[in-house]
Amino acid sequence: MTANNPSERTDALLELFPPGTELNAEGMLLLGGCDAGELAAAFGTPALVLDEAAIRSRARRYVDGLAARWPDSSVVWASKSLPHTAIYRLIAEEGLGADVSGGGEIVMALAGGVDPGRMVLHGNAKTDEELAMAVHAGVGTIVIDNLDDIDRLERLFDGTSAEQGVLVRVIPGVLPATHAAIATGHSSSKFGLGPAAAKEAIARLRGSDHLRLDGLHVHIGSQVMDAEPFTAAVEAIGRLGEFAVYNLGGGLGARYTYSDQPPSIETYLDALTAAARRVLPSTARLMIEPGRSLVAEAGVTLDRVVSVKRGEITFVAVDGGMSDNLEVSLYGQRFEATIADRVGGGELCTVVGRHCEAGDQLVDRVELRDPRVGDLLAIPVTGAYCLTMANNYNGARRPPIVLARDGAPRLVLRRETFDDFTRRDLD
Ligand code: PLP
Repeated sequence: MTANNPSERTDALLELFPPGTELNAEGMLLLGGCDAGELAAAFGTPALVLDEAAIRSRARRYVDGLAARWPDSSVVWASKSLPHTAIYRLIAEEGLGADVSGGGEIVMALAGGVDPGRMVLHGNAKTDEELAMAVHAGVGTIVIDNLDDIDRLERLFDGTSAEQGVLVRVIPGVLPATHAAIATGHSSSKFGLGPAAAKEAIARLRGSDHLRLDGLHVHIGSQVMDAEPFTAAVEAIGRLGEFAVYNLGGGLGARYTYSDQPPSIETYLDALTAAARRVLPSTARLMIEPGRSLVAEAGVTLDRVVSVKRGEITFVAVDGGMSDNLEVSLYGQRFEATIADRVGGGELCTVVGRHCEAGDQLVDRVELRDPRVGDLLAIPVTGAYCLTMANNYNGARRPPIVLARDGAPRLVLRRETFDDFTRRDLD
């Protein structure tokens, strides 16, 4: 925390919460106008609360911002960041398509009303089953990640007169400053094809009876805090010739901490489209696939404090943990946190989860104000890549999602029940 004055500290912390988050007269956080304490009482903890207006507003900034800069364009939400039927519905209502990367995501996107023609299927190991599901559903674009994808699709279409739009995913040879586990555009990435192999795929697709090569795809990674690597990636694919469609991926970073300063959506779009104007055909259609930057900042996880252990370190242990937030263990992502009705700093604590792993920390060294057992803890910026990787470690029930809007909460995904643990048993 940077500011020493308590009210400045509170303001700085509130800035990490969805826009419009405020405190009520008792000092309790109001998320989407809903009292965090009442949300926890109604829906339990841990719970992911999403500010619906925050998602809609960022979706609109992407759609309107890209259209203003490049009229023939489309925004496709990278749904792996928060794949749930209600979120697909909301995103579709705002005019976005969806990037899907697995059978379950196709199922939820269809249930949420996403136009299959505006879906883009990704994956470095798409199975025959998933490819068949996508083709059957009418998914508009399948991204070719390897030459085996071409073989599989050719086999699927053999003997038919059908046609499928495809893009070739190209490795641009760009390494942005982000965690190694989420950097995907460097030459040793498992995703996509290097320029020579991409040329081979392009040549094969040009001779295909069923696969219509629409263009190229590139994605350099996630939580990228600087516009320059995106520009470099556009320049790299510009060198592969002229195509009708260029999908420039996602990757814009979110603001998790006081010191994070990601480019705004508009600055990012300025950089992308300026590069596109320099090196891509002016008649091309541009697509982008934002995930994290669209939903991360709308999410707040509410956890209940189960234990406060004071010693060399003050451990504040909560009822959530790495079963609903793997970002810390996987990528060392830094989060901030506060007691929901005593916002601000005070005592230096480490917030840990309830799991049987020493690495199950949610926030290492964060100031909490007088933390006590039974308090409600709020962790902002947990909308992306948290619940999507939720798991049942140590018998944890995966948490619910509550959409909060104008003071009205809506439960859109229920918490798992203990019965769910034996529901798939056959014996
Ligand atoms: N496109 C592809 C192909 C991805 O794999 C991802 C996620 O890594 C994204 C888009 C979205 O990235 P982000 O959530 O960082 O915007």
